[in-house]
Amino acid sequence: MTVHCCIDAQTPARDGRTAGIRGWLFCDVPVVALVAESDPDLFQAATYGQERPDVGAAFPAFDTASRSGFFLESTVAAVAQPGHWWVRLATGDWYRLPVDWSCRHPKLTELTALTRQAAPPESLQRALVEEEDLEARVHRWMKRGPRLRLRLDLINKCNLRCIMCHYNNKAYAQKPVRKISLEEFQRFFEPLAPDVGEVLLSCADEPLLSPAFPEVLRYLAQKHPMCLCTFARTPC
Ligand code: SF4
Repeated sequence: MTVHCCIDAQTPARDGRTAGIRGWLFCDVPVVALVAESDPDLFQAATYGQERPDVGAAFPAFDTASRSGFFLESTVAAVAQPGHWWVRLATGDWYRLPVDWSCRHPKLTELTALTRQAAPPESLQRALVEEEDLEARVHRWMKRGPRLRLRLDLINKCNLRCIMCHYNNKAYAQKPVRKISLEEFQRFFEPLAPDVGEVLLSCADEPLLSPAFPEVLRYLAQKHPMCLCTFARTPC
């Protein structure tokens, strides 16, 4: 039996560290779990089994190729040096295969008695359980840096009436005005600030009608300069 594998993309995180790798991996026998090992005892389970019609088309002789995509959330430590894949097959067998995370070429590895493992370590089993826990995955994602994109309006008004917009509805356009002051914005924003990477100040209304708009921009630029701030110009 052979394993075909290729890492075809690395996604850089906002802070410049590698955040994740994507690729594909398949064997003659279906793969049921894929775990990366970068150090003894440092395991990270990949999300495995995504559709890869391109791989299926390139390897028509293998039924398993078209659902061979994987994504691995990873820290620098996990991808900065050669490591291993732990591959579990539908037969229940585990194999440990060497991998160079920086290589972008398809690789073919024979499964032999030498690469077969009697049982995976306990820490690998824990990584697999964590991969299945959605909450743990969200926490891990949040820890990698300020990832949230905050979308909010500073006022619920617009001075245009674009034909496709809710402001073309008279009842909506005449609703009582609600303005967010700088102080309100700060009270709301400060507790979230460490997790926010981007603020979008225009969702469904016109931010330039808000009297607080310049003050909010100034506050974000001075107090949170690493936070990307965007807003749409009319028509939005
Ligand atoms: S500018 Fe934007 S918010 Fe205003 S009416 Fe047009 S689409 Fe709606």
